Formats: sequence, C-alpha cells, structure tokens
Amino acid sequence: MSTAHLDSKQVNLTSRSHLRISKVLLISAWFGLLAGLLEGITANFLRGVSGFAIRVSPEILWIAPAFDLAFFILTGLGLFLASYLIPRRIDAGVLAGLFSGITLLGLLLLVGQLQQLAALVLSVGVGTQIGRRLRNKEPQLTVFAQYTFTVLIAAALFTGMLGATWDSWRERQFVADLPKSDHRGTNVLFIVLDTLRADHISSYGYQRRTTLNIDRLAERGVLFENTFANSSWTLPSHASLLTGRFPSEHKADWWDPLDGTYPTLAEVLAKNGYRTAAFAANTSYVTPEWGLARGFSHFEAYGSSLADDVVRTVYGRKLALNILPRLGYFDIPGRKRASQVNDEFFSWLDSTDGGRPFFVLLNYFDLHDPYLTVDSFHSKFSDTVTRGDLVNFQFQPHTHRRTPSLTAKQIQVEIDSYDRCLAYLDAEIGRLLSELANRGLDKNTLVIITSDHGESLGNHDLFGHGNSLYLETLHVPLILSWPGKIPVGVRVPQIVSLHQIPYTVMELIGEASTPFPGNSLVRFWSGAADKATGTPILSEVSPGRFKAGPPNYPTARGGGLKSLITSQWHFILSESGSAELYAWPQDRRELDNLAETPAGRVAVEGLKRRLDEIIKKN
Ligand SMILES: [Zn+2]
Repeated sequence: MSTAHLDSKQVNLTSRSHLRISKVLLISAWFGLLAGLLEGITANFLRGVSGFAIRVSPEILWIAPAFDLAFFILTGLGLFLASYLIPRRIDAGVLAGLFSGITLLGLLLLVGQLQQLAALVLSVGVGTQIGRRLRNKEPQLTVFAQYTFTVLIAAALFTGMLGATWDSWRERQFVADLPKSDHRGTNVLFIVLDTLRADHISSYGYQRRTTLNIDRLAERGVLFENTFANSSWTLPSHASLLTGRFPSEHKADWWDPLDGTYPTLAEVLAKNGYRTAAFAANTSYVTPEWGLARGFSHFEAYGSSLADDVVRTVYGRKLALNILPRLGYFDIPGRKRASQVNDEFFSWLDSTDGGRPFFVLLNYFDLHDPYLTVDSFHSKFSDTVTRGDLVNFQFQPHTHRRTPSLTAKQIQVEIDSYDRCLAYLDAEIGRLLSELANRGLDKNTLVIITSDHGESLGNHDLFGHGNSLYLETLHVPLILSWPGKIPVGVRVPQIVSLHQIPYTVMELIGEASTPFPGNSLVRFWSGAADKATGTPILSEVSPGRFKAGPPNYPTARGGGLKSLITSQWHFILSESGSAELYAWPQDRRELDNLAETPAGRVAVEGLKRRLDEIIKKN
C-alpha cells in the first residue's frame, strides 16, 4: 500500500468524522480534569457531613482528577472510534455537551440526594442543552479549552498536593501537641478481627484447627470464654469498644456517626501522651466519616491499593460494581487483606520515634462476606471454594446477602470458605506477633484480640449480621496478653462484654482516673470479689437498612431488638413486643425458645424489669 493511498484514506476518515484526534483529546482531558476537580473538592467537603455517605480520605483531591482524566480520555477515544461508524456528524460542541452531562451526573451521584434515574434524566437534559448551544462553535470552544487547560492543570496539581499531604501534616500537628507521657514502654495493641464468631476458633472448642496463632496467644494470656458484643454489627459495636458505652447511649447507628458526647479510648490515651493510630480494613464503617477517628493521630482506612483508589471515585465504583460480577469476580473491589493491614502498621511504626508508647487499633476484614481469601489457602479444609455470589452484601442488596434458599451443601461450602478466611487471617496474626517480637515490643505491649460481632452462617435461617441478636452474632473472642502483667493460661468462664474494655485498658496501664464506666475485667483474674457471675450484658440493634428486609429477618419482623445475657438466660425483646428466651449455657444454638413456658414467663418478667433498669440507668 502506498503512502499516498494511506494519506488519502486518513483524510477521508477525518473528514467523515469531523473530529480530529487532537481536539478529542483536548476536550476529553479538559472535562476530565474539571470533573475530577469538582468531584474531589465536593467529596472532601462533604465527607463526614451527616446525611452524605461519602467515604474518602483527603487523597480524593488527587485520586478523582487522575481517575476522571483517564476515564474521560478513554471515553473520548471510544467516541472517536465510534464516530467512524455513526453517519451523524459529531463535533466538539456535541462532545462538550456529552461530557458536561457526564460531569453533572457524577456530581449528582456523589452527593446522592436524587434518585439515580432522576439524576440521569437531569444530566441528559443539561448535557443536551449545552451540546446544542455549542454545536458549530468548535473554533471558539477549542481556543477556550486551550487557554484554560493550564489553569485546570495548575488547580489539579495544587489541590492534589494538598490532599496527598493533608493527613501527614495533621498528624505532625497532633503529635506536636501531645503532652509528656508517664507510661513509657506500655504499648496497647487492640486487634479487632471483624466478623469473627468465637465458636469457629480452635481454642473456643471448634473442631477444625483454624487458629494456631490465636490459640498460642491465648496460652500466653487470659481467654474470656463468654464474651458478648453490644451490637451485632460494626459501627455501634466499634463505638462501644472505643467509648465503653452501650449503643443506646452513644447512638452511633445506621445513619448516625459516633458523635462527640463520650470520650474515646484513643482520645484519653492521647491525653496521656500516647501516639495513637488505627489501620482499618473495614472501609464501610471503620472510618473517620463514621466518627471513629476521634483521638487518633493517624487513621488509615482507604488507599491500600490502586483498586481501592479507583472505587473511591464515583465512576470507578459504578464500573467496578457493574462489570466485575459479570466477569465472575464477586469480592469487594480493593478489599484490604490482613497482610496489607500488617504492612501499613509496621510501616507507620518504623517511621515513628520510639520515645512515646503507642495505642494502635487494627481492624481486619478478611472474614466479612463474601468469604473469599488468597489463593494459597484455597485447598484448606475442603476442595470446594465459594464463588462469593451466594452470601454477598454488596451484589445482592435486594435479596439481602443471600440467594433465596441455600442447600445444606451450599451452606457447607460457605462455612468451609469462612474457616479458610479465618486460617489465612490467623497466619497473618502470627506474622504480626512475630514481627512485634522481632522489634522487641512483645514484652511491653498489652495485646487484646477480639471481634466487633459474629456471623450467621445459616443459623436461624440467617446469613451475615446486623439482622438479629442471636448468639452466633454476639459471641466473640476476647484474649488479653501482656508478659509479666497478665497471668498465662487463664480461662475465664464468666460472661463479659466488649464495652468493659476501655476501663480495663486504663486500669492495666495504671491510670486510676478515667472517664469510662467501671466494671473492669481485671477482677476476673486478680481474685477480686464477685467472680461467681458477670454483670448482665445489654446488646442492641436497630432495623436500619434491614427494615424492609425479608420476613425471616428478626429486625424486619419485629423492629429494633434489645437483648440481655445473664449467666443463665439470653432474653431478646423486639420493638413489637415479642420475646424470646433461651437457656443459652445448655442451648448454645438457641433452638428452644422458652419464653412461653411457665418458668420462662416468670423469667421474662424479671428480665424485662432488669433491661429497663439498665437502659434507664444509662
Ligand atoms: Zn463488623
């Protein structure tokens, strides 16, 4: 083929499309930067504002422009190629109209105050109007874009740099303001294994060897056999873990971040001169926007990978959630694995000066559905691995985490997969503890391992959590270890609760004055009084987004639930007034509701009064 022939073909194609590639690139990039800037600034402005579910870090100020730049250029190139197939003329004005619509739609979806369809209709309307007005104004449009492009680049670079350095600047300020610490050498490592039900841990009696490293830590410390969470899902439970308050006191709930009413453990330890940091893999709720970062000088939730950066953007998230399942990928896009939590923690630890003790919260998210883990664990326990599409909170909002009915075989695959995720997580906990020992920090660090709630794995015909208060979602592990300070190999059978942790930590580091409610766990191994029973434990859950869930959901059927666990009973009372009563020490699976038996009725009356007393007292 001759060069002349090629040239004539190119000219022919260009004249047919009426679009030159250089103009397509210029207009695409111009709108990409504009859309990214607007998105980044809006998201950063609205994050943490009540009523807007925006979960990003200030880094969105560079992530959004970078992603939108690439996304718009690719869209522009796609249109450029498509223009060869479309007989209608596409000019720069039409392109500008289209990109205006996409920009507006992105902002409307980000802010989330309009229904998706309404946002789409509005954006198409505005985009069409702009496209009409700019049609045949290609020369003016091109000149305008050329002249203003450098301004957009400068603005994106400036805000991007601000976003990239904001958190470290804030951390330096925070640390500079810390008072001197009297607790040199007493570190606190608070490990939350999100969604871990206690009865799948070997040292809690599970028949599978799921947790070699957690068991070893338990042998070196105190294991609480009967620990119960104060709620069956992440936010209220973490809020109780950090404030020592019950959910009806701290009020952090489905649409309400933890407010500033009660001090948090991180805040109080910072006032005692601690360097405080959190590394969270649950980027849905263990985030600054939900009020959990108060008191932390460093809070790392987002940005663990390129994939996580992408899903922080509006269109990145939409594309990931719509395309990935069609390709057979059902995992959480950009899910932060335990190895990444460890790496983030040690990278922070190694960059800090050792002059201060640390308080670190590690939240691991490997056990949350879908129960998918790293390839090297795929043959653990069984040969069948879940695809991740049966129990899945993000891809099945309408069926509420599960297909309508699962066979016993399917449920077993989900259980095998959950256990496999736990074995992986345990291996990473082993690595965490040995890296700590390599740094000589194992002797002077109080290590606490627990979980924010358990998980229904087909029990009571339920999956997931946050939809009931049955024991499988409340019974969590609690292990404390501190060489020389906490006895080894002790197992505590009494009932205890997560909200007792803040007070206990303060007592252990020798700080007598604390703002947290009393009821220390230390008395269970120190030989102090009232060892015979624990104090009744209040747990609560409101229906939230499961209000319209299927009728097998207790929260959909009866509204909000409150439960009281005593050494003898588990009493569950719904907003609608229905009561359930289980003699849990004998009936751990809670299959036999005794509320309507003669003895049960008497017990229910007493437990109702007790529940009222506890709620009123708070
Ligand atoms: Zn959770």
